[in-house]
Amino acid sequence: MLIRPGRSSGNLIDRRGGGGGGKIGLGLGGLVLLLIGAFFGLDLRPLLGGGGAAPPPANEQAVEPDDEAGQFVDAVLVETENVWGELYRESGETYREPNVVLYSGLTQTGCGTGQAQMGPFYCPNDQSVYLDLSFFNQLQRMGAQGEFAVAYVIAHEVAHHVQNLEGLLSRSRSNAMSVQTELQADCLAGIWAHHARGEEGRLVLNDADIESGISAAAAVGDDAIQQRSGQAVRPESFTHGSSRQRVDAFLSGYQSGDYRVCFS
Ligand SMILES: [Zn+2]
Repeated sequence: MLIRPGRSSGNLIDRRGGGGGGKIGLGLGGLVLLLIGAFFGLDLRPLLGGGGAAPPPANEQAVEPDDEAGQFVDAVLVETENVWGELYRESGETYREPNVVLYSGLTQTGCGTGQAQMGPFYCPNDQSVYLDLSFFNQLQRMGAQGEFAVAYVIAHEVAHHVQNLEGLLSRSRSNAMSVQTELQADCLAGIWAHHARGEEGRLVLNDADIESGISAAAAVGDDAIQQRSGQAVRPESFTHGSSRQRVDAFLSGYQSGDYRVCFS
């Protein structure tokens, strides 16, 4: 994966404080996970707890990050804006861009307090994706290698924003509904990867990147997470879908490039 120079998003908010967040892929250390299964098991759940009264990040200044990890997130975010902006234009609509908030440890969100242990999540109340970058080191330990694994996660969270714009974000507490919503987000992440392979964007993707997206989708399948944490695999407890389902959903979007396949 190559990153071309280009515009900055203008929607990236940096609450990390104190000298950036280090490099993706190098151990930031320190974060001991109590609940590895929480990763991706909770990325939409915070919204179910009801909205806190936190101010939306709209009144915060967006930044152009000067560290490598921040710049990487910025480039992926720009590429989601390019792709979804174009797809919305083609259907005669305007894409409302989400914010991405980088934070360390704890942060206030429109959906209550965000915590690193939750993993990345999307809050529809303030239309923002929240990322604690230490997550990406965990992702690597979970077997999802490569920069594109990170891009896939960001694309998945942005997909929840697209679902929100389309009125498709289920607030149901049922696991079956949750799995359906999450697999649709994986499919939409695949749509993004398909279009991000164009010539124009800020990212230059290759086949190895797509492989790394597939391995990320497999690593965060509910069955893989349950097995890794020594639990029995219980399909009825799945919230995001099995590894196989997540890979298939990503690939169906990626191979077709037509977002309608994700809505059928
Ligand atoms: Zn999700």
